[in-house]
Amino acid sequence: MSSSSQVLVLNCGSSSLKFAVIDPHSGCLSLSGIGESLGQREASVSWKCGGERQSAILPANARHTEVIRFLVDEVLSQHDKLRDQLVAIGHRVVHGGEKFSHSVLVDDAVLNAIQECVALAPLHNPAHLQGIEAASAAFPDLPQVAVFDTAFHQSMPRQAYIYALPYTLYRDHGIRRYGMHGTSHRFVTERAAELLNLPVNEVNIISAHLGNGASITAVHNGRSVDTSMGLTPLEGLVMGTRSGDVDPGLLMHLGSRMDYCLKEINDLLNKKSGLLGISELSNDCRTLEQAATDGHDGAQLALDIFCYRLAKYIGAYHAVLPQVDALVFTGGIGENSSLVRQKVIQQLRGLGYAVDDEKNIRARFGEEGPINTDQSAVTLVIPTNEEWVIARDAAELVPPDTPNHDPSSRE
Ligand code: ADP
Repeated sequence: MSSSSQVLVLNCGSSSLKFAVIDPHSGCLSLSGIGESLGQREASVSWKCGGERQSAILPANARHTEVIRFLVDEVLSQHDKLRDQLVAIGHRVVHGGEKFSHSVLVDDAVLNAIQECVALAPLHNPAHLQGIEAASAAFPDLPQVAVFDTAFHQSMPRQAYIYALPYTLYRDHGIRRYGMHGTSHRFVTERAAELLNLPVNEVNIISAHLGNGASITAVHNGRSVDTSMGLTPLEGLVMGTRSGDVDPGLLMHLGSRMDYCLKEINDLLNKKSGLLGISELSNDCRTLEQAATDGHDGAQLALDIFCYRLAKYIGAYHAVLPQVDALVFTGGIGENSSLVRQKVIQQLRGLGYAVDDEKNIRARFGEEGPINTDQSAVTLVIPTNEEWVIARDAAELVPPDTPNHDPSSRE
């Protein structure tokens, strides 16, 4: 691709829209911003370009379409060169069901498939469709590319993705484990292969993406073979406000013994549990670390459970993989919390892990590299960069007749 090509990356959430203009070649970010409180009275947009931060109030109840219009009319209009360098729009799409194992150029069939997956991602997929429609109207000359969070996990074998439920639920209703955060796990896999000096299709890692949402993936020969999130992002690890794995019998208990309705159960498990629920203080790891240091018992317990459950998954993924070249930490907590990493690795000493305290403390705020002692199992910290993956995929799929297209992008 031409060294001056740029991709507009859009991440449409239910009430927010994150945007970024990225050089797909270098990953260099020229512009980034977010439209927030969409559909509400106080909708607003803020952005950063060339070190300068700006913000604006949007009309009340503005939605994704208005943010994209604002981006074109008010933001990109101040940066003509950037606008002219755009070769594609890359959209993050949370759920692609079983239809997509790779990123694709958006056409009517793709839009229909995203629509069909609305039942699996009721908050996200409708917002993605709105974003794609608005971006297609605003940039009619540019190709739109969909990059799916589920795609990387489509390589999972059946034994990893079928629930032990009546098979008809899978066959007739698509109820199975799909996994999320695939774009991040893929980025980390490719970067780990580079750091380990291995071809991607020979690398075996356990990738722990720990942010507000958290998931862990077993990667065999560069492909996801198991992951902790399931039909929805609720399964698996303890998260900021999500419970992760619980006994499914809990749901019947809450419903029949404690009169919870479905909405209340949903709120309990998704919004009131996890670090927040246990600590009764916060879902934020930084706050909990500080509180635990100050003697807050709930904060200490929340961190203990978060790390213990994560270590158990890592142990399980050692059983899944024939060999593990590296354990990788990424996401806001994985990249920044030396305490979480230290506690998890301490729990895993029986598997040959040991942390080098100095390297562990140093690996913060964007630093990447190993944090293990010389003799112990390789443990890496790798800052994730999902936007760059989206930009790269979008640039690679640009058809030859697109403005600004450079044939070297297919190298
Ligand atoms: P999201 O899933 O929303 O993208 P992030 O990946 O940004 O979330 O991660 C957010 C989490 O990272 C929060 O729990 C936050 O406290 C944690 N975090 C960020 N910086 C630090 C830090 N320096 N130490 C410990 N935790 C941190």
